[in-house]
Amino acid sequence: MKRLVILGGGESGVGTALLGNAKGYEVFVSDKGKIKEKYKDVLLNNEIEFEDEQHTESKILNADIIMKSPGIPDRVALVKQIREAGIKVVSEIEFASGYTDATLVGITGSNGKTTTATLTHHLLKQGLDVGLAGNIGDSFAKQILEQNHDNYVLEIISFQLDDIIDFKPKVAILTNITPDHLDRYDYKFENYIASKFRIVENQTEDDYFIYDADDEVILEWLQNNSIESKALPFSLTKVIDEGAYLDNNKIIITIDNNQIIMPTENITLEGKHNIKNAMAASTVAHLLKIRKQTIRESLENFQGVEHRLEHVLKINKVQYINDSKATNVNATYYALESMDAPTVWIVGGVDKGNDYKELFPFVNEKVKAIICLGVDNEKLFEAFGNMVDVIIETQYMSEAVKIAYKVADAGENVLLSPACASFDLFENYEDRGRQFKNAVRNL
Ligand code: ADP
Repeated sequence: MKRLVILGGGESGVGTALLGNAKGYEVFVSDKGKIKEKYKDVLLNNEIEFEDEQHTESKILNADIIMKSPGIPDRVALVKQIREAGIKVVSEIEFASGYTDATLVGITGSNGKTTTATLTHHLLKQGLDVGLAGNIGDSFAKQILEQNHDNYVLEIISFQLDDIIDFKPKVAILTNITPDHLDRYDYKFENYIASKFRIVENQTEDDYFIYDADDEVILEWLQNNSIESKALPFSLTKVIDEGAYLDNNKIIITIDNNQIIMPTENITLEGKHNIKNAMAASTVAHLLKIRKQTIRESLENFQGVEHRLEHVLKINKVQYINDSKATNVNATYYALESMDAPTVWIVGGVDKGNDYKELFPFVNEKVKAIICLGVDNEKLFEAFGNMVDVIIETQYMSEAVKIAYKVADAGENVLLSPACASFDLFENYEDRGRQFKNAVRNL
């Protein structure tokens, strides 16, 4: 019996444990932190051995194969030992994809993964049996075991790609690349870029690669490296023969001379970045033969994803928008760009080495007041202090929203788009977004 050791008892770890168990492995789950009760129950019910708040080396270094959760960095001593011992280390998508013949759509990028994955799933499910997995919802491994869909849309973060060997999506999407998570890549942007491009590494000429052809980082990589997959780029600025582009507020997608034309005015998602996400998702749907009329209708009734430019409420003609998921400058760039009225902007949190310069034009043009919501707001005051009449700081969401309520006039927006991580004042970005929505509802 082969021994499968799983490091990390979260969603992907426990899913992999279930799949490995069903496929005849001797499974052991080890987590340095505490495993949540709901996952412990699953492991106990399935008689899968586990430990938490420790790693027992003798039970780990005898593995034939190790599934490492994406949250565990390579610099951890135990991982180094495992690598030195020559044990095969894989990620969940690598392990699980070995047990399915389903058509896989893999979506990666620095921003827009969840939106594009959710929208792609929404379009495909109109005509296909399809699951949504990866860094979202129920784990891929568990879905393969319990649902066995014909198709999967997978949201894939770079840490999952770092430990693939044979993983090969039929369709790969790369939404964009901007610097993020560099602490896991020796602070070298090129390592992070290379990690993202591993999504095409095993693709052949029968597979497809959909990417943002306006993204300089992606274009430069493609100039210096060759890929086998069939390229289907999308662009807001250039005419694209095979792939998607924008022409007079219409998205035009061409694949093998088969064209679909979709007016953008009826798409509920707002902002240029969401036109890109819609292009990528619709290209997949067109490729996998969803009917054109169905694609058009489904784009129009897609309600978006929580915490991503989510319209919360209109109070006294002021629109409150929750973009808590904007944890970096690039995401906030697109949020501010999409504001169509003067905006009271709630920003701040844990700064990941942000350079705010690229936001200056939008702040000058659209932002009437800034509310800094972080433990340390000095950098925000330095960057934007001279740009707006009102800049205030607070450490309470309810207070931030109350100030915004006083400052905003009819016809304006209040936007939470922090450009920062949330861990100084909140549990995570979901908690931050929920607190914002509750505060708005309590006004
Ligand atoms: P991810 O899953 O990659 O973190 P999300 O879809 O959750 O991406 O969106 C995260 C943030 O990025 C949101 O605040 C959203 O406004 C912004 N965003 C979404 N799509 C894009 C895109 N294509 N390019 C840049 N920013 C985007």
